[in-house]
Amino acid sequence: MLRRFFLFLSGQKHLRKWVETSALVQGLASRFVAGESLEDALRAGTRINSEGIDLTLDHLGESVTSLAEAAQARDSYIRTLSAIHDHGIRGNVSLKLTQFGLDLSEKECRANLAQLVALAAGFGTFVRVDMESSAYTDRTLSLVEEMHAQYGAVGTVIQAYLYRSRKDIERLSAKRIRVRLVKGAYLEPPNGAFPRKAEVDRNYIELMQLLLDQGEYPAIATHDEKMIEETKAHAARRGIDAGRFEFQMLYGIRRDLQRRLVADGYRLRLYVPFGKAWYPYFMRRLAERPANVFFLARHVFRQ
Ligand SMILES: Cc1cc2nc3c(=O)[nH]c(=O)nc-3n(C[C@H](O)[C@H](O)[C@H](O)COP(=O)(O)OP(=O)(O)OC[C@H]3O[C@@H](n4cnc5c(N)ncnc54)[C@H](O)[C@@H]3O)c2cc1C
Repeated sequence: MLRRFFLFLSGQKHLRKWVETSALVQGLASRFVAGESLEDALRAGTRINSEGIDLTLDHLGESVTSLAEAAQARDSYIRTLSAIHDHGIRGNVSLKLTQFGLDLSEKECRANLAQLVALAAGFGTFVRVDMESSAYTDRTLSLVEEMHAQYGAVGTVIQAYLYRSRKDIERLSAKRIRVRLVKGAYLEPPNGAFPRKAEVDRNYIELMQLLLDQGEYPAIATHDEKMIEETKAHAARRGIDAGRFEFQMLYGIRRDLQRRLVADGYRLRLYVPFGKAWYPYFMRRLAERPANVFFLARHVFRQ
């Protein structure tokens, strides 16, 4: 119930304006966001690398309303990828296609993405296209497949809550396209997605096994200890070396678990968001865990 409520709020534009400029909520969001500027993100990146963890930088933003904004987002990603390269940081970038103009013009969005992926290919690095709600799944996958055929250097995300995901993983794996497996963070209609968490978890384990067996350097992105233990166990059963896949987690969540994985010799990449447009991202993090909401409420009442 709370999950649905916060995911509903995540799409409310008026609330967004108010919240993004509120110093109080900004302070709370800083748990999940590395800062507003690229410099903040690079500082966080250097610290994270020194702990033996790789990263992917996300310049926050989604659902832009003009092609000029989409071009700005592309330029900011070009600056980010170049800075990662120049500073010798072990990291790549993650972006959302609605930030690159997908809602406005597929042609412009493709051109923006092509510029970034070509740059990544030149640097020998990688661009991850995040997955948004199921309204975008087909278009996201077809653009990623097209870019991959042209440049390599690009991969995407598959959500275990969608019924269609097994087929998508099989196709992407056959094309050697890298997949990050997540449970899924959006409000979805019941005809396309498992409604119950237990079913999503079961599907996650099945898809993780498929990816470990057939996928191209899969990323198992979760903070769920059961999913992590199942992954380790499957890799051990199949004799899959820890260097052939990676775990991924979000900045600011389960640092204890992050440290443990690294100490045990597993690869870990942190998803590190930065920038001013943090509202929808923050609301999805609240939706994932009711305790975050109580933490927020306690803070508000103390003021
Ligand atoms: C690296 C990465 C990239 C992602 N990219 C995408 C994407 O492109 N598209 C997409 O739809 N989703 C994405 N997600 C989000 C994902 O879909 C889930 O919503 C999110 O990871 C929570 O699910 P979980 O696997 O951690 O398991 P859950 O069962 O939700 O949580 C397991 C445990 O993890 C901890 N936890 C989980 N979330 C939080 C939180 N917000 N705050 C505090 N503790 C928490 C709690 O201890 C919880 O009990 C991404 C997640 C990660 C880690």
